[in-house]
Amino acid sequence: MSCSFCGRPKSEVDILIAGISGHICEDCIEQAYQIIDEESKHHTTSDYQDFNLLKPAEIKRKLDEYIIGQDDAKKILAVAVYNHYKRISGKTTTDDIDIEKSNVMLVGRTGTGKTLLAKTIAKMLNVPFCIADATVLTEAGYVGEDVESILSRLLQAADYNTKSAERGIVFIDEIDKIARKSDNPSITRDVSGEGVQQAMLKLLEGTEVNVPPQGGRKHPDQKMIKVNTKNILFISGGAFDGVEKIIARRMNTSVIGFSNDDNKKEIDKENLLQYIIPTDIKEFGLIPELIGRIPVLTYLNPLDKTALRRILTEPKNALIKQYHHLFSLDGVDLKFDAEVLDFIVEKALEFKLGARGLRSICEAILTDAMFEIPSNDVKEYRVTLDYAKSKFENSKMAKLKIA
Ligand code: ADP
Repeated sequence: MSCSFCGRPKSEVDILIAGISGHICEDCIEQAYQIIDEESKHHTTSDYQDFNLLKPAEIKRKLDEYIIGQDDAKKILAVAVYNHYKRISGKTTTDDIDIEKSNVMLVGRTGTGKTLLAKTIAKMLNVPFCIADATVLTEAGYVGEDVESILSRLLQAADYNTKSAERGIVFIDEIDKIARKSDNPSITRDVSGEGVQQAMLKLLEGTEVNVPPQGGRKHPDQKMIKVNTKNILFISGGAFDGVEKIIARRMNTSVIGFSNDDNKKEIDKENLLQYIIPTDIKEFGLIPELIGRIPVLTYLNPLDKTALRRILTEPKNALIKQYHHLFSLDGVDLKFDAEVLDFIVEKALEFKLGARGLRSICEAILTDAMFEIPSNDVKEYRVTLDYAKSKFENSKMAKLKIA
């Protein structure tokens, strides 16, 4: 009796399993298993089956676990992302209908959750993600980074697996900073404004790009990696400071056409961003070709007191939950008086940093406690309003405000 695969006799192997007309030894079983494993891995990457395509409502529900409010943005983003990945999964391709890319533009003040939305979606879908800062980009040949460098980070995030990077998500932050600086581009060359917008067009639409793997400038000795951007989803974000004025002007003029006063009353003057349309962005200084390649436009609401208060405690990895966890690792039960949380929110509003301020304020209040507690034998630590106020007022952050 011998293995029908490797031919070794029974005396040389430990196990020999009998089939209908042959035998197999344990080594050949192992080898066959490895082949199956390799092959199946190969198939999943080439068939794009290894990302989780959730339905828009499921995407929105997941986003709700991490991000407070911003319902319009969540809904619009969920649909755009769903359509995008449906498009690239190949399910919808018929020969004559080519679904266009749905790159997304998020307009909203700083610290309202733009980056968090994009990051959470990428994590949820299990695709590579990177954040690119539009402010460092310049037109090719000038000091600064070429637009291709955006993709270097994506490649890094994908462990240099080009296939995987090619269906990732890129968040382009501060896209408003590459708005055209002057109305007459022929007077001075606008290398970090319109020039960059022009350079970005191809990237957004879908093309083969030579990417310097280490980022930065293209060095002649650096071996380029070819990346096709056709299936990369670009989500761009910006505060577009001052765009409210453009919206207000447009709405006033358009309202005049209707002599119906009710129309005017319904406008929420506190939050004009919700009425934003592509022409407002064009007037702000983005070129129509670029706007055309980012067809999905939505906005984020400024965060009010209620929203900030919820952000502190409700999301899955809410700040207060994080501090609880940190203290619990030292065996300490951390407790906040309710007024302390209100105080943190008040200060965040005062500093106008959106939710971003919450973290720095918490740090200011808790740093001393975090310094001392690991060396002390306490089981419970209660943060009172007086304690929070005194720690905050002595912090660097509070002094910044006075200066
Ligand atoms: P930006 O709009 O400037 O991109 P971010 O998404 O970077 O803002 O938000 C900064 C931080 O504030 C995030 O890491 C997150 O902790 C918090 N944050 C902002 N908005 C929200 C929100 N709507 N829900 C929960 N956390 C938020």
